[in-house]
Amino acid sequence: MAFEGLADRLQGTIQKIRGKGKISEADVKEMMREVRLALLEADVNFKVVKQFVKKVSERAVGQEVMKSLTPGQQVIKVVKEELTELMGGEQSQIAVSKRPPTIIMMVGLQGAGKTTTTGKLANLLRKKHNRKPLLVAADIYRPAAIKQLETVGKQLDLPVFSLGDQVSPVEIAKQAIEKAKEEHHDYVLIDTAGRLHIDENLMGELKDIKELSNPDEIFLVVDAMTGQDAVNVAESFNEALGISGVVLTKLDGDTRGGAALSIRSVTEKPIKFVGMGEKMDALEAFHPERMASRILGMGDVLSLIEKAQANVDEEKAKELEQKMRTMSFTFDDFLEQLGQVKQMGPLDELLKMMPGANKMKGLDKLQVDDKQIVHVEAIIQSMSKKEKTNPEVINASRRKRIAKGSGTSIQEVNRLLKQFEDMKKMMKQMSGMQGKGKKKGMKF
Ligand code: GDP
Repeated sequence: MAFEGLADRLQGTIQKIRGKGKISEADVKEMMREVRLALLEADVNFKVVKQFVKKVSERAVGQEVMKSLTPGQQVIKVVKEELTELMGGEQSQIAVSKRPPTIIMMVGLQGAGKTTTTGKLANLLRKKHNRKPLLVAADIYRPAAIKQLETVGKQLDLPVFSLGDQVSPVEIAKQAIEKAKEEHHDYVLIDTAGRLHIDENLMGELKDIKELSNPDEIFLVVDAMTGQDAVNVAESFNEALGISGVVLTKLDGDTRGGAALSIRSVTEKPIKFVGMGEKMDALEAFHPERMASRILGMGDVLSLIEKAQANVDEEKAKELEQKMRTMSFTFDDFLEQLGQVKQMGPLDELLKMMPGANKMKGLDKLQVDDKQIVHVEAIIQSMSKKEKTNPEVINASRRKRIAKGSGTSIQEVNRLLKQFEDMKKMMKQMSGMQGKGKKKGMKF
């Protein structure tokens, strides 16, 4: 799971300070020592770590924390804000050209996921924004690259412009743009050639395509699993070509997080999207604040709600959002969620988005053991209406009855009640912390 080590360590650290009514400089120092180690272990660039620790330390011993009534909470807020800032602050947007088509050059090293991402991005543009993209096969060197893009196009039912591998990429780009104008495509996505390593020929060719096509965006696709290498690649591409944003792929794998946390700071270019799987719909807009929330165990209710909206009845999703905000989330909602969750994609991904999910050890096991879901469902179904709405009435004898009725054990009932309680607590904490992003332009 991405960021797991970092999340565990940071959460362990902030846990120690969370409830403190008074914080000394020594407390801050001790905490920052741990934060520093956690970031370094996650393969975050050491300069970035140094700066981050300095910033957080300064703020943590400053007025806003020390004079606050809840310094423990306040420090965590500072860490979250700075983590968000480190990853780019606000969610960045994608260009919309005043004179269509908007041209996007996709660049990157071989194997990073460039061709796949080109398809995913076209799919997202069409699905979410009703755009009409044209895919352009401009990688004439890698055998099968053109074929691969054509296959992607077929799969998505999107047109692919190709002139085979005997025409220069610059010429391909030129003709593709002409065709896009003629046929009123509003986006042109150029899948350029990759290499195993950065070399002058590659950069020369990319610069030529850039000069000719005058792109609105140049997205560099890098593999999150390669950690600091991805950061170095981003730095080189940015220096040589000037990129406008990064797409970080394979964030569904168990990357430590170093690339995600360092790229923005090192290159000053934002991460725009993240790849979350091999399928064509596994591309998500990158939200720094939500990612920071997830890393700090505050959950990512907004993404969860968006997923629900995409997959589940919209009315119900709104209702759920409201319930989470007003803390009137009951076992009935929980049960309904379980049913819907099954339709919403990989369970472990979703669980990570729930506030406090990392602490719900038992719930965590759901991802591997379907039987547990059945048990949880049975336990909730054995509760009375009153018990579902007001779980605090569930005393020892009720627990016994519920365990019997559901064919489970008292321990299992206890565990679920505890998890539910923890989850509500985390929701409460989080709702006080979630900031509000400003909205502008075309977002995903
Ligand atoms: P390219 O050489 O940069 O064009 O790379 P490809 O698009 O051919 O992708 C290389 C491999 O990475 C393929 O097997 C893709 O399915 C896989 N891939 C791309 N993006 C992701 C992602 O976000 N998650 C996962 N798990 N695999 C990915």
